[in-house]
Amino acid sequence: MAVARRMLDYMERSSWIRKMFEEGARLKKIHGEDKVFDFSLGNPNVPPPELVKQKLRELAARDEPGMHGYMPNAGLAETRQAVSAYLCTEYCVSMAQDHIIATCGAAGGLNIILKALLDPGDEVLVPAPHFVEYGFYSENHGGTLKSVPTREDFTLDLDGLERAIGPKTKVILINSPNNPTGQIYSEEEIKLLGELISRKNYELGHIIYLVSDEPYRRIVYDDCRVPCIFAHYENSLITTSYSKDLSLPGERIGFVAVNPSADEVQKVLGALTLANRILGFVNAPGLMQRLIVELQGICVDVGIYRRKRDRLVSSLRAFGYELVVPKGAFYLFPKSPLADDVRFVRILQEENILAVPGSGFAGPGHFRLAYCVDDRTIEGALPGFERACAKARG
Ligand code: PLP
Repeated sequence: MAVARRMLDYMERSSWIRKMFEEGARLKKIHGEDKVFDFSLGNPNVPPPELVKQKLRELAARDEPGMHGYMPNAGLAETRQAVSAYLCTEYCVSMAQDHIIATCGAAGGLNIILKALLDPGDEVLVPAPHFVEYGFYSENHGGTLKSVPTREDFTLDLDGLERAIGPKTKVILINSPNNPTGQIYSEEEIKLLGELISRKNYELGHIIYLVSDEPYRRIVYDDCRVPCIFAHYENSLITTSYSKDLSLPGERIGFVAVNPSADEVQKVLGALTLANRILGFVNAPGLMQRLIVELQGICVDVGIYRRKRDRLVSSLRAFGYELVVPKGAFYLFPKSPLADDVRFVRILQEENILAVPGSGFAGPGHFRLAYCVDDRTIEGALPGFERACAKARG
């Protein structure tokens, strides 16, 4: 066999994105680019803020020794210093640059965390629906992902989580604002989750880490706030990136922050730093580390995404779709008018609309729309959404 059996299985499991890509290319060939409405990818369509471009030009002109050399494994001191200073105000915690590791985006952050924490057979619990890559990332490092359904409105089901925690649980991974639902977990939910994990640590006699994946932290609407997990549970880590708030997903820059009060914090930081070196990407890109030093707190205009959300929410509701209004990120996760979400996504394709079935996110009976797209795409798709709902309802 040409490739590993495990990869064949992975390719099948991740096939939705590929199928959508191929279907999009096929439909565009037949109908033309502007007649196909692609909501399948979370690739921000809002350009990076002007300041990002200005700082990039300044950096490109800097001609200093070492500008393009290898980096310290945990990141440049100036970058870690800038991030920790910002987090002290943003998260209201006291932390130093030592608690920050610069990473290749949030995906790099998650992989160094799981590499640092998991032993073979350890379980990672995640509220579902969830980002599809979590399963691959866990298995990359010998772990197993176990999904625990959220409630009807996608808030945490703490009783379900309590039942799912067992002797093999090493990590509880949350993502808020959530991809694919747009839900934000409240301060009260995070507080109760922290208490639950502390209780379970005591019962089980080992530490369970709480990991929060936060690439959408700054893409929030209607005065919503994302609570900081550090205030509610000590053995905790946060990872995030500048992919969405600065619209830089191709540049691969983010960080991990470790709660300064975590047990054996130095060991955790040491393991993360080594993982950053040995996973093959060899630390975070140098130019991008320098770029973000002066861009702490800068974000794209979230109003652009809010207007898109509002237009889609009100239109889809008027057509008869049921949905929970997203509080953040740029995804909508409506109920599929048919129990079979894959069949409904095919009906949408007949209208030249590309969406991803909820089954791909461990959230069957729904479908995901990424609305980080041009207004033209949204307006052009609305009649198709209306017809598809009517067709499904027969
Ligand atoms: N986590 C979630 C929930 C995501 O949606 C994404 C990307 O879409 C990532 C992690 C990866 O982010 P990055 O591109 O910054 O590595």
